[in-house]
Amino acid sequence: MDIYGVIGDPIEHTASPAMFTAAFDAHAVDAAYVAFHVQPAHLEDAISGAAALGISGLNVTIPHKETVCRYLDLTGDAAAVGAVNTIDFSTTPPMGDNTDVAGLAAVLDSIPTTPGRALIVGAGGAARAYSFALDAAGWEVVIANRTVERARTLAAERSAASAITLEAANDHLEGVDLVLNATPIGMGTDESPLDGGRLTEHHVVIDAVYQPRYTRLLADAEAAGSVAIGGDRLLLEQACAAYERWRNEPAPIEAMREALGRSLTREACV
Ligand code: NAP
Repeated sequence: MDIYGVIGDPIEHTASPAMFTAAFDAHAVDAAYVAFHVQPAHLEDAISGAAALGISGLNVTIPHKETVCRYLDLTGDAAAVGAVNTIDFSTTPPMGDNTDVAGLAAVLDSIPTTPGRALIVGAGGAARAYSFALDAAGWEVVIANRTVERARTLAAERSAASAITLEAANDHLEGVDLVLNATPIGMGTDESPLDGGRLTEHHVVIDAVYQPRYTRLLADAEAAGSVAIGGDRLLLEQACAAYERWRNEPAPIEAMREALGRSLTREACV
């Protein structure tokens, strides 16, 4: 039997075991997926211990995504983002990947849009991955962040990106084709990072927040006639990309979608 898992602190509400267990069942893979609570002080031991135990793969969530890089070889995506969410232990040292990049690319491939201008709200870990994915796909990216210095630092790492304050974000809506919320604004509240009244049917609106699945931003986007995509879709696609890296076959996306849907009706985080 192959063993996979997710490490994080906290880890109680993770949706990953539900998605991957459903995936292994759907493909009759003899594997188990376990949530491991790993505190920061034990991260290095956890990685070397996982390798010693013959664990096949791990997902990585908060707060380990950046720190774990130092114990791994990195794919181009993970190196560019500076964070890992998926580890493949089939090599020594293990290989760290960032499938949030492939996850957003899969979402973009599924909608009728061509690269234009994108506004990302936020400059944290998720924004790092999504700005890289958009940049690599040929989008010009504007990054709006509460701490504008962080947006400037991130923009400088991308080939065609600029930084603005969070207050200036609404004024940029008219000039962009795609909007992506990469802040927790809207998580468990009825707030939106943007003025919904300024969204139009020309916008693609993606919200990384997935709890609730239907956020204020998505409701405003739908009311405006925008294409509206929720964080549950990003969560699903990054998991599918991790499955494909580990198992070298297409992920059973429908089984994983169904399991995620059931899991998100309870309180869940990655
Ligand atoms: P992070 O690294 O902590 O970054 C948070 C970002 O949000 C920072 O830019 C921060 O601004 C900004 N922010 C936080 N609270 C804010 C507030 N009240 N007002 C304005 N800006 C605020 O977090 P992350 O890992 O990037 O995650 C961001 C969100 O994406 C979370 O909700 C997370 O659950 C979600 N996410 C979803 C997926 C998915 O697959 N759906 C994947 C990854 C993350 P400052 O720089 O000023 O602090």
